[in-house]
Amino acid sequence: METTTLRCDKCNRDAIIFQKYSGMHLCRKHFIEDVERKIKLTIRKHYSIKRNETIAVGLSGGKDSSTTLYILHKIFGGRPDISLVGICIDEGIEGYRPNTIESAKELTSQLGIELIVRSFKEEYGTTMDLIAPQKREKGTCSYCGVLRKSLLNKTALELGATRLAIGHNLDDEAQTVLLNHLKGDVSRMVRLAPPKELEGLVLRMKPLRQIPEKEVALYAYLHDLPLGFGGCPYAHEAMRGEIRVLLNDLEVNHPGTKYALLSGFDKMSGILGREFPQEGLANCRLCGQACTEGVCQACKLLGRDQ
Ligand code: SF4
Repeated sequence: METTTLRCDKCNRDAIIFQKYSGMHLCRKHFIEDVERKIKLTIRKHYSIKRNETIAVGLSGGKDSSTTLYILHKIFGGRPDISLVGICIDEGIEGYRPNTIESAKELTSQLGIELIVRSFKEEYGTTMDLIAPQKREKGTCSYCGVLRKSLLNKTALELGATRLAIGHNLDDEAQTVLLNHLKGDVSRMVRLAPPKELEGLVLRMKPLRQIPEKEVALYAYLHDLPLGFGGCPYAHEAMRGEIRVLLNDLEVNHPGTKYALLSGFDKMSGILGREFPQEGLANCRLCGQACTEGVCQACKLLGRDQ
C-alpha cells in the first residue's frame, strides 16, 4: 500500500506534527523554531528580563519544568549577567518524587546549572504521604500546591532570585482560567494575570503559557530531556480533571479554543486588576512569609494557628 508523507508547510521536509489550530504541518526544525519563537515572545511581552537578574526555575523533573529550564538556558545561558538556578521541592511522595528528582539532577548537571533540593519534611516536619490519608477540608493537591508554592518562594528569596519560573503550559493556564470562572473566584483570576512586584514575593514567570501540553511533550522528546516517569498517586483533583477533558474535547472540535480562552483572559486582566486591586502584603506572624492576612495559607493548612 502506498503511503503519503505529509510535508512541512515551510520547507517541504517530512512533517512531524500537524497544528490543527494554525493549520500548519511542521518538520522538526520548524516545530522547534515555532515553540522557541512563542516562548521568546511571551517573555518579551509579559516578563521583560533586565540586566543582572537571577532566574530560579521550579524544577520537578517532569516535561514542563524540564523544558522550561532547558529553553531558558538556551535563551539566557550565554548572558554573563543572567544566572539560572533550579529549585526542586521534595513533597515526600514515595514511588513518584524520588525518580523525578533524579531526572532534575541529571538535567541540571548536563546544563551545568546549580540545583537546590528542599523538602516538606525538613521545612514543615511532614510529607504529603502523611497528610494525604488524614481527614481534611481541602483536596490533597490544594495542600501540596500551597505548601510547595510557599517553599519555592522562600527558597527563591533566600537565593536572591529576581524571578521564579514555573512550567505551566497553555493547557494548565486555560484550565485555570475556566476553573476560576466556574468557581466565580475573581481574586484568583487577578492573581493569574502577569504579576506585579510585591515585597516578599519573587516575580513569577510562565514561559510556556502559550505552548500546548502535547507540544511541550514533543519538544522534550525531541531534545531527549531526562524525564521522571510515573504519575503522582494523588493526582485526582476532581474539577480540574473534568475541565481538562472538557477543554480537550472542545479543542478537537473547535481548534484554537485553549488559545482563545487565554487570550480573552489576557485582554480582560488589566481591567480586572484595576477593578479588584491586589491587597498589599504583610508578613505571616508565624513563619514570616509574605501573605495577605495575619497568618499565611501554608501555616493555616498545617494547623499552626490553632
Ligand atoms: Fe502534589 Fe497533587 Fe501534584 Fe501530586 S498531583 S504532586 S499531590 S499537586
